[in-house]
Amino acid sequence: MSQSRQIDLTTSIQYLHGVGPARARALEASGITTVYDLFYYFPRRHLDRTSVTPLREIRRDQSATVVGTVEVAGERRARKRKYFQAVISDGTGLLNLVWFRGAPYLAKKIKKGVRLAVSGKIEFFQGHQIVHPEFDLIDQDEDPLHTGAVVPIYPLTGELKKVRVDNRALRRTIRQVLEQIGQIDDLLPAALLDRYGLTNLDQALRKIHYAENIDELQQARRRLKFDEHFFLMLLMALRKANLKTGTAPEIDALGTRFQLVYDQLEFDLTGAQQKVIKEIRHDLGRGRPMNRLLQGDVGSGKTIVALLSAAIAIGNGHQVALMAPTEILAQQHFTSIKAFSERAQITCALITGGQKSAERRQLLAALAEGRIDLIVGTHAMIQSWVEFARLGLVIIDEQHRFGVVQRGHLLAKGYNPHLLAMTATPIPRTMAITYHGDMDLSIIDELPAHRQPVTTKVVNSDRLNRVYHFIRDEVEEGRQAIVVYPLVEETEKSDLAAATEAFTQLASGDFRQQKVGLLHGRLKPDEKDKVMAAFAANEINILVATTVIEVGIDVPNASVMLVEHAERFGLTQLHQLRGRVGRGNAKSYCILVQRKTGDTADRRLGIMEETSDGFKIADEDLQIRGPGEFFGARQSGFIKYKIADMLTDGPIIRQARQAAFELVENDPHLRKPEHVTIRRRFVSEYQHLLELVNIT
Ligand code: ADP
Ligand code: MG
Repeated sequence: MSQSRQIDLTTSIQYLHGVGPARARALEASGITTVYDLFYYFPRRHLDRTSVTPLREIRRDQSATVVGTVEVAGERRARKRKYFQAVISDGTGLLNLVWFRGAPYLAKKIKKGVRLAVSGKIEFFQGHQIVHPEFDLIDQDEDPLHTGAVVPIYPLTGELKKVRVDNRALRRTIRQVLEQIGQIDDLLPAALLDRYGLTNLDQALRKIHYAENIDELQQARRRLKFDEHFFLMLLMALRKANLKTGTAPEIDALGTRFQLVYDQLEFDLTGAQQKVIKEIRHDLGRGRPMNRLLQGDVGSGKTIVALLSAAIAIGNGHQVALMAPTEILAQQHFTSIKAFSERAQITCALITGGQKSAERRQLLAALAEGRIDLIVGTHAMIQSWVEFARLGLVIIDEQHRFGVVQRGHLLAKGYNPHLLAMTATPIPRTMAITYHGDMDLSIIDELPAHRQPVTTKVVNSDRLNRVYHFIRDEVEEGRQAIVVYPLVEETEKSDLAAATEAFTQLASGDFRQQKVGLLHGRLKPDEKDKVMAAFAANEINILVATTVIEVGIDVPNASVMLVEHAERFGLTQLHQLRGRVGRGNAKSYCILVQRKTGDTADRRLGIMEETSDGFKIADEDLQIRGPGEFFGARQSGFIKYKIADMLTDGPIIRQARQAAFELVENDPHLRKPEHVTIRRRFVSEYQHLLELVNIT
């Protein structure tokens, strides 16, 4: 009998008592094949006394979750329009539910007498109502308001829906299995649980599905979140431990070139720049690979830090690769380095996609033979063809997405250089320690002294005439302006067309007296160069550009930036753009043209007016858009959070980090018997990244 079979987490669900073949197939199609998968299929939310509102307390225009019994339900018709209507009551009041589509499906589910949990925005139309509420069927005895029960609501994918595995069915299945299974072994040692006040895994897995009160649920949640953060932090801790044992060139002297660059500087380094250079020198001198992330707001002077670091490596006989995200930026770095390199006796070269193959072959040969000290290019450089004679330092600019995985590419080619990643995208602290947990962090928290904040104003299109007038005045005074159009993808034709059309209109209209240039990603490299050079020389007064200019343009004479369709940009992106002005001595302005209004857009753009603190802006962006948007799919790809939440888990993240780093400190290869289960779980979670750690 199946009843007598021992069930554990590895048991396949098709052998479970109470799960028929059809349901097993549906579960399997949703990725649930074992008891483990079933228990880790976490509810997307819970209903309890604190989250459910009695109907007598609902208010118009508020979002609410309510639970009630269906009194009447059916298809209705009003002035030729068909709709499905249900009225629910909970003993304290009534609520009208309305759907304008899906009647046949709804009629099957929503019948007189069933209990529903519904959520949505309360409207008022002949009484309180919700249009197209989110709804779940719940059992008659599941009443969070009166019993104090906590009811789990599961996400239902298409497959589950198809075979009518609804929330009630899923709840019953999970409850049955929980009753059959014995004590679930923990992954973490008891001492660790004690230390961080964590509930054991057995209780956590039971209570996440069936808590008797909200406190139990919170405990379960905290434990399961902790686990997710913990295993990612373990990756970071193991990674860092592995770097510590790796070898990289020991560069403990300043070398012959540092001073030659330093003497050419026309300004004093800020205190923050000096501090960071000291940190980098220390890293380079240890004989172990540096793995440092340098964060500094736009305009804080990271480039010179990069150049001085490169000079140290080169002065000690090593080659340096400097990588930028776009060719324009690579070009610009190359130009600014070129200004120093001759007198510093540094041989440098630029590698671009547009180079002729003969030229490129020569360049690559020179690099492989060690005749080039410093190569500047895009990020594509490390993935492919480039070979070095003695690569000692890699500097990556504006690349917060460069992390654990990409270092693997370098290792795979047999290089283990020092690594300096630089970013102007301020990363909220919880994210930095999560995504870059294996890196050391340097922060430039000081702008060069003469820098003044950029005055920012949000306007709608009615005000554009006055704005254009203002720009003409600025140009009259000898200054320059940049007009930016959004371009989400370089390939999006419509965006490109909009920018091109705007250019034509402005050049022949409001700015016909001024010299207007156009810069976008589709231009050939030499055309881009020409435009950039003309703008730098003020032969172009007003540059109309797509977002290709987001990073890197350094034209101190530009004093006005106008951003079109500002609501389409992320805040950090706007902050980057804004950093393109205010780099000289003139008072500078950033004008954000808002074409669409709405609560979120208003609030987001309002933040740009209020603050120029990049960290604050990044935090707001994170709150509003979430981490996925913030980092892009590429970065979040190696993290599969089921329950963890970057926005709200700050304290748990810090504890998990501490726990993971301490564990690795005591047991760098996870060999101790009490860590066997941790090791096993780690290996199964991070199989694809095992080459970066050393736990054999
Ligand atoms: P970012 O950190 O955005 O990369 P950059 O390195 O491009 O900033 O520096 C911005 C501008 O500030 C450049 O024109 C640079 O020459 C100048 N700069 C850098 N450091 C200083 C300093 N200590 N004092 C004055 N100007 C500086
Ligand atoms: Mg820069």
